[in-house]
Amino acid sequence: MKTQLTKIAAICLSTLALGACGGGGDNAGAIGNGGPPLVVDANGVSSFNATTLGASLVALPMEALSATEKESLLFMREEEKLAHDVYAQLDLRWGSSTRSFGSIASSEATHTEAVRQLLLRYSLPDPAPAAAGQFQNTVLQGLYNQLTTAGAVSLAEALKVGAAIEEIDMVDINKAMLSIDNQDMVLVYQNLLKGSRNHLRSFVGSLANLGISYVPQYMPAADYQLIISTPMERG
Ligand code: MN
Ligand code: MN
Repeated sequence: MKTQLTKIAAICLSTLALGACGGGGDNAGAIGNGGPPLVVDANGVSSFNATTLGASLVALPMEALSATEKESLLFMREEEKLAHDVYAQLDLRWGSSTRSFGSIASSEATHTEAVRQLLLRYSLPDPAPAAAGQFQNTVLQGLYNQLTTAGAVSLAEALKVGAAIEEIDMVDINKAMLSIDNQDMVLVYQNLLKGSRNHLRSFVGSLANLGISYVPQYMPAADYQLIISTPMERG
């Protein structure tokens, strides 16, 4: 257990370092073919650029997919859809008070699409039902129901739901990263993590504006502090 947490922390540190070293474009409009697959707007909303992601994936070798990697892709497709569907629902409820949920939902649509591109690349069937709020994975279905109910209570509770989703995403991706090695998956997952770090910073910042100090519920406290104490990653 301790070893696993240490590994997770090490991966967080290394991905943060990679993000910090990224450099590059300042905004989506400046990035063309060959730019980074993830683009970040002025509010830290981090989305995949379909063209540059496609170019990045084409340049990587096709490698054999392990059973664990396959399971992870199927799960991650629906986990990123969960983020999108919850934020879209919270935007309906709280969109007149904040633009956060609408813009981050758009970002999550590109995250789940990026995973779908990997499913296509490996000729795997897409597990995600097209309907909003529906999931093949029963754990994710339960989370959707629980989180949308919790987020309907107040704007503050909704923002806490946002932060919790980003925590859960990072915990799950970091765990998956321990047992995947295909370069295309690593590329996409590292960028999903970077997106989640920025989204977490955004939700925690919105809570701070309401005078609320968010307490992490799923991530190791040290990993959380490291993210919150560092600026939005632009590159
Ligand atoms: Mn995401
Ligand atoms: Mn996110």
